[in-house]
Amino acid sequence: MSPVLLMTVAIALHRLGRRWAEALIDFAYPPMCACCRAPLSMAGTRFCLGCWRRMRRLIPSAATRCPRCGSPQVSPLLCGNCDAWEVAFERAVVLAPYADPWAQAIQALKFGGRRSLGPLLGRFMAQQLADQLAPVEALVPVPLFPARQRERGFNQSQLIAAGLARELGVPVLGGLLVRRLPTRQQARLGAAARRDNLVEAITCGRAPPRDTTLCLVDDVMTTGATLNACALALRRAGARPVLAATLVAAYR
Ligand SMILES: [Zn+2]
Ligand SMILES: [Zn+2]
Repeated sequence: MSPVLLMTVAIALHRLGRRWAEALIDFAYPPMCACCRAPLSMAGTRFCLGCWRRMRRLIPSAATRCPRCGSPQVSPLLCGNCDAWEVAFERAVVLAPYADPWAQAIQALKFGGRRSLGPLLGRFMAQQLADQLAPVEALVPVPLFPARQRERGFNQSQLIAAGLARELGVPVLGGLLVRRLPTRQQARLGAAARRDNLVEAITCGRAPPRDTTLCLVDDVMTTGATLNACALALRRAGARPVLAATLVAAYR
């Protein structure tokens, strides 16, 4: 390539600004659906039309989800999930059930190098659940064990929180919660001991802001044990009230 042509290309890329970065990402990850890996015709998109439609269809309407745990219900007043659900946060704000293609999208984000899905889905969630997230004043990403984060190179909760923050106009309090390595082998412990161990492992690294509605952020909620341990740590340090927001939840 001649120096003149090289310069012309460089100037064109510079003018493209952010689109240049996106073009590079598309180059590194050839455009294919993050869920079904079908080739994509439009640059800058992350899902094929079929997967995106299925993802949107899985999102329950406000009238058909439990106001406390976010699970899809026949009535917003009756919820079998909440009967024996004791958690330290006030309510869960959940976008969709943990099912494909959502599960595939989460896998692509965590293990498939599709980091851009984090902020993208965070923003989408904030738009879809604006009413439920309206009281939120600051976001607290659920921390990963340090070794896990080093291995992965990022914390997906932090990425999702960045997208939520941008849309909600609130700060992300990264590093507020600290997750120390568990001292005992988790696998050998029973459910109750595992829960206690988790509560011990998560603490506040500094004092949380008082009289501020905090919202924990994670990618997936299964039993809610991790979010519960995080909410306990915040409450012990004087913070309240606390909400919990996740992209998906595996309802019991
Ligand atoms: Zn697809
Ligand atoms: Zn419920």
